[in-house]
Parts: sequence; C-alpha cells; structure tokens
Amino acid sequence: ALTAGIVGLPNVGKSTLFNAITKAGAEMANYPFATIDPNVGMVEVPDARLARIDEIIPAKKIVHTTFEFTDIAGIVKGASKGEGLGNKFLENIRQVDAIVHVVRAFDDENITHVSNKVDPLDDIDTINMELVLADLESVNKRYVRVEKVARTQKDKDSIAEFNVLSKIKPVLEEGKPVRSLEFDDDEQKIVKGLFLLTSKPVLYVANIGEDDMADPDSCEYYQQIKNFAESEGSQALAVCARTEEEIAELDDDEKQEFLEAEGVEESGLDRLIKASYKLLGLATFFTAGGKETRAWTFKQGMKAPQVAGVIHSDFERGFIRAETVSFEDLDKYGSMQGVREAGRLRLEGKDYVVQDGDIIEFRFNV
Ligand code: GDP
Repeated sequence: ALTAGIVGLPNVGKSTLFNAITKAGAEMANYPFATIDPNVGMVEVPDARLARIDEIIPAKKIVHTTFEFTDIAGIVKGASKGEGLGNKFLENIRQVDAIVHVVRAFDDENITHVSNKVDPLDDIDTINMELVLADLESVNKRYVRVEKVARTQKDKDSIAEFNVLSKIKPVLEEGKPVRSLEFDDDEQKIVKGLFLLTSKPVLYVANIGEDDMADPDSCEYYQQIKNFAESEGSQALAVCARTEEEIAELDDDEKQEFLEAEGVEESGLDRLIKASYKLLGLATFFTAGGKETRAWTFKQGMKAPQVAGVIHSDFERGFIRAETVSFEDLDKYGSMQGVREAGRLRLEGKDYVVQDGDIIEFRFNV
C-alpha cells in the first residue's frame, strides 16, 4: 500500500500527531489487520458519500477504505553526511511515497525548540536541505557515470537520462527540491527511477496552538508555512496536534459536539487524511448492494480491470465489464431503478478509466 511518512524536527509534535493517528485507527469499526509495525498507523478515510449510498442501497454494514501513515523519527542535522541514524532516516524516507512534514507553529515556553526559537521557515529549510544534499550526492554520482556512457555509446536511453540529470543538478545545487521542476511523461519515468527524496510530493503541516484553531489564517507562522508551500507548488494544512490527540479518543457524537464548540467543521486529522490521500493521487470507488456498502482505494488513471483487481485478483483475470454509476447520479436519482430509467447506468469495458466516486458492480468469468 502507498504510505505517507511523517517527518519533522524534534519537539514539533510528530509523536503527538502520530498518537492521534494510531488512536483514531484503534477506533476503527472494521479494523482489517492486526497492527503490523508500530511505526505504521492505519486510519479510515472519512467519506460522507458512504452513508448516502447506504441510505439508497441499504446493507448490513459500511466499510471505509483505509490509509497508512509511517512515523519517521530522527532527523538530525548532517543526516545527508550518511552516518548512523542519519542514514537510517534518509532510507526510511526513501521507502515512503509522500512526505508529511510537520512544522512547529505554536508558542509555548515550556516546550524547548531545538534551535531555541520558533521559526517555521528556518525549520523547513533545515530538513529540506538535508534531503537536497542527499539527492545531490546521488545525482552527481549518476551524472558522471551516465555522461560517460552517453558520450561513448550515444544510445537513446543514456542521452535521455543525461538530459534529465542535467536539468536536475543545477536546481539541487541552488538548494531547491526536484519537485519544484516540471517534467514531461518520458522525463517523469526517468526521474522515478532515480529514487530521489526531493521528488516526492510534500504536505506541510503547521502544528498550531490551541488558541489558533478557530482561525488558523490569523496565525503568522501558518501564513509563512503556507506561502512557502505555495512557492514550491506544495500544499499546507494547519492542525493542532495536541487537540487532535484528545479528539481521537472521543466517540463520534462527542467528537461532533467538540468540533462544533470549537467552531470547526472537520477535525484536523480528517483533513490531514484526505489531503494525504489526494497527495498520493489516490481516489475512491464504491461497491454496494451486497452485504456491505464499501469504499475502496485505487490510483487515479487506473482502468476498470486493474481496479477490479483491488477487490480480488480473480475479478481482474476474468474481467468482463463494469456496471457503473457515478455517485452524483445515484444521489440525484435516489435509487438504482431511477438511475436505470434515466439511462445513467453505464456498461464500461476494459479501457474505461475509473473515476473517483464511481459505484461499480464488476461482471467477471470464474
Ligand atoms: P516530536 O519530537 O516532534 O515527536 O514532538 P512531540 O509530539 O513529542 O511534542 C513535543 C512537545 O510539544 C510535547 O510536550 C507535546 O505535548 C507538545 N505539543 C505537541 N503539539 C502541541 C500543540 O499543538 N500545542 C502545544 N502547546 N504543545 C504541543
């Protein structure tokens, strides 16, 4: 499964946020697996559409789809120099598909900051610079090797890779992440094969104080983080980790009450889950009409047989067609019969690119 790794300087609130995640995960109604790894927290992806589908096509239970966060502890200045803990830290980041970068955005005299002052941009720079330096080292090594091959053999692949490396190198030398560059599809494939740390998508999470929860935009630290994120084409989100940890222990009704009292619509954790899911290019399709109304995760761009394979490999192997209705149509017509009468039930074949919100019944040979 795709996973987002949580990183940040010491004492910014990573463990607090990760605790909130594991507590919320432990509350899951249909927890499908035993906890595998203490550094992995699994949560349900909140999706209001499930309840509506279940209202129209009732089933015994509702099953949310899930998402995994990985806790990556231990950034230290000098990690890119590759000693001990630092090496492990970079290796752990290499394993994840997206980065959730937690930044301290609250004042609290009782909580020491590693550099003795709250300065979000400086903090972001400290971590990003380690990742940039690690990437620069791998790119430089590769550059020397590929340059030689491209020059002597003049083969298409080496030349293409050399061109990509030449595009990346100066950007890293300027201290900027690879994700700040744009690549076409062919280049993208080459970049992927380089396994660079700064090519992964990043979500910056401002850990704001309790007092700023009702109006995060009034928090100067959050504004700085947001502007920075925008400057590199990334996204930012404000949460109060300490509060999220408290919310995660409440049941649904209590949670609702708490959020209303705070004057917010959705918990920070729910926003974080949704944003991370999107960051990874994930989307949701549904199955209904059996014993459960269920949400499933697929990667945007996947075609119907591949998506069928998310449920079971037999569905993919014996795929015939996907009987599909969009959530919007089901919601609008209010019943499957209404959908059929309106001609909105589609019979999609093997080349159909599944869309977020599709409700599908797969037909397959066994
Ligand atoms: P980590 O080192 O990044 O994992 O940081 P921790 O999660 O251990 O948090 C460091 C300290 O900051 C702990 O004492 C937390 O209780 C505190 N802390 C975390 N989030 C918040 C917050 O939103 N507001 C305040 N005031 N303190 C927080």
